[in-house]
Amino acid sequence: MQVGVPKEIKTHEYRVGLTPGAVREYVAAGHQVLVEANAGAGIGASDEEYRKAGATIAAAAREVFASSEMVVKVKEPQPSEWVQLRENQILFTYLHLAPDPEQAKGLLKSGCTAIAYETVTDSNGGLPLLAPMSEVAGRLTIEAAGAALKRYSGGRGLLIGGVPGVQPARIVVIGGGVVGTHAARMAAGLGAEVTVIDRSINRLRELDELFEGRVRTRYSTIDSVEEEVSAADVVIGAVLVPGASAPKLVSRKMLSSMKQGSVVVDVAIDQGGCFETSRATTHADPTYEVDGVIHYCVANMPGAVPLTSSQALNNATLPFGLALANKGFAAVLENPHLRAGLNVYRGRLTYKAVAESLGLPF
Ligand code: NAD
Repeated sequence: MQVGVPKEIKTHEYRVGLTPGAVREYVAAGHQVLVEANAGAGIGASDEEYRKAGATIAAAAREVFASSEMVVKVKEPQPSEWVQLRENQILFTYLHLAPDPEQAKGLLKSGCTAIAYETVTDSNGGLPLLAPMSEVAGRLTIEAAGAALKRYSGGRGLLIGGVPGVQPARIVVIGGGVVGTHAARMAAGLGAEVTVIDRSINRLRELDELFEGRVRTRYSTIDSVEEEVSAADVVIGAVLVPGASAPKLVSRKMLSSMKQGSVVVDVAIDQGGCFETSRATTHADPTYEVDGVIHYCVANMPGAVPLTSSQALNNATLPFGLALANKGFAAVLENPHLRAGLNVYRGRLTYKAVAESLGLPF
């Protein structure tokens, strides 16, 4: 199959749909890969590296869209990209169509077949193409908290792990899913005192086993959140209620009980955030202060580390992308997990929740 990789054009998006390593896998499986010039610049991968991996370099995105049977991207297509998609072409990327009627209309009009990374499933009921970005964001939370805790950033001037004889930071993670687990792992690794709060007892059991007592667990109630937040130096918000906005678990009143210069990192900001005082920020200006507490609420945290993020994403997308390249649309019919990713098929919406939220026929 002819597979195409355009350069990402969304503002501040530095990741790339296929890394040179992934291109090599496609080529080894007998496919041709056309990569737009400079597509890998954001991760430091030159056109020469792509050529060595077996790709052909196209001077412009136009050529990539015109001659590819499947287009592999990272971000949802932008308006100038929708118009280049066409019937009998597969688009494999993050789409997040539910809140984006304009993009949905563009994809429907194009007649393409669009498979969304975020709705592809695995046999454990997980979302394998979303998980790597949660892993990255989770691990980044502790780096973000460490930076914000520094005195010159307005923080308490506290070293996360302390030193022998001096108390480490007390870090509370609300939500012990993928983000929360990776945040807890990093925090514990640095020597912090870590508590994870979740409303799933089974998840708390799993975490208790995983961390072998190194991390405390608490069931999520208003009482436990209030108690833990008021004693914390850092609170990480990592809850998710699938298909809903994040619940506001930390009120402004609770926040005001925190010490001056403490830090909150609201990873759930992409779902509205779980602190009453959260508002989305950007990597260019990531923090602000409310009641003496530093807030870090960047909505696309993995964008800070596009090299790691592109590799993690490619590791997860590769088997699905290769199946699509090998078998074409038949791969979607054969594999229920890939089928779960199908959002648009030749002018029709094929994902019920997306159709419902857009008020369009399914
Ligand atoms: P997940 O489903 O793996 O975990 C969510 C956890 O929250 C679950 O364990 C669930 O039991 C728990 N939870 C739900 N309600 C709760 C409550 N009331 N109290 C305590 N715990 C509760 O989800 P995830 O992949 O870890 O993602 C977490 C959030 O991070 C999501 O909103 C996701 O969109 C977001 N995210 C943001 C970024 C970013 O860059 N800001 C990147 C990746 C993920």
